[in-house]
Amino acid sequence: MSSKDWIEKDFYAVLGVDKAASADDVKKAYRKVARESHPDHNPGDPKAEERFKAASEAYNVLSDSGRRREYDEMRSLFGSGAFRRNARGGGQPGGMPFDVSDMFGGAGGGDRRFGGAGFQDLFSSIFSGGQAGGQAAPRGPARGRDVETEVALDFGDAVRGVTLPLTLRAPGVCDTCHGNGAKPGTQPRTCPVCHGAGVTTRDQGSFSFSEPCRNCQGVGTVVEEKCPECHGSGGVTKTRTMNVRFPAGVADGQRIRLAGRGEPGERGGPAGDLFVHVKVRPDELFGRTGDDLTLSVPVTFAEAVLGTDLRVPTLDGAVTLRVPPGTPSGRVLRARGKGVVRRDGQAGDLLVTLDVVVPARLSDEARTALESFAEQTPPAAREHLDARVRRVS
Ligand SMILES: [Zn+2]
Ligand SMILES: [Zn+2]
Repeated sequence: MSSKDWIEKDFYAVLGVDKAASADDVKKAYRKVARESHPDHNPGDPKAEERFKAASEAYNVLSDSGRRREYDEMRSLFGSGAFRRNARGGGQPGGMPFDVSDMFGGAGGGDRRFGGAGFQDLFSSIFSGGQAGGQAAPRGPARGRDVETEVALDFGDAVRGVTLPLTLRAPGVCDTCHGNGAKPGTQPRTCPVCHGAGVTTRDQGSFSFSEPCRNCQGVGTVVEEKCPECHGSGGVTKTRTMNVRFPAGVADGQRIRLAGRGEPGERGGPAGDLFVHVKVRPDELFGRTGDDLTLSVPVTFAEAVLGTDLRVPTLDGAVTLRVPPGTPSGRVLRARGKGVVRRDGQAGDLLVTLDVVVPARLSDEARTALESFAEQTPPAAREHLDARVRRVS
């Protein structure tokens, strides 16, 4: 029988006696139930057998004065639902139910019997810092929350990297009281309930357990005259400006974490982090694929056929690209090292896509020349399509 079973089972109800029943009454009650439910008198009745076993189990505990006392104490603690953790901080969500089986799981096997002292030691390890009957260490002040913000960068700034002043409206430490929440000239007072410990210890029988002090919410001090600026909270909404460095090559949709630049911790706790979501404004000329920049360049049919030298812009200056004679439409030319500079110092490329444009209008001279050109050039290579057209029509 495990200790958990002890808590879940009502041995008094099994025997049909009052909690205050004397040892003699318990013995009499057990004999009665045992006699009535004995398997010899109830052959083939599983319910009677179950009752007989339950009565033996109950009597086993209640007939031993030491075990009966332990059983009573456990039930008085756990039966009332007293074990709910609602400590602030410590990473535990408030009001999380305390699982009794977890508590006993590591305590040396299901059949362990607890002596009074051993049980107290167990409590001490469960409630961090809680010394049975003594003073407990206060919990650390809560860490500040993480703050998120969004920044829009110009295309070129994102490629090259930039340092920008970032203005945030976010909770900060109150300057009037420096975060302690007390009116200037006064000081927070040690909490009279927990004497500064932040936790209170409750004695119950030979056990004691700790919980965060309700008077000071676990802080250990109380503010009597509240700071007029922050109304005692120690925090106010502030406009903060800080310089943030965006590394070269930062991309649209990226999130930058600035450790310790978030919301300050409550009453001196560590600050949270600042997360900056980066939006990159599109450029009117350049696109970007990873570390490569892209650029579309219109060329005439004559330039593509005859070849030419193209002068194209980059993000920093211009380059000349050779278009060889007979270059097809859609061909991509590469200007090496004119893309995004990576962290290792290497750079991506500028990828230039040639777009052969078709003139919408022609002068009479141009039309004549083009007709002459058409007569002297072979037809486009469409034999494979023509074959399919004949087959389907
Ligand atoms: Zn207190
Ligand atoms: Zn204040």
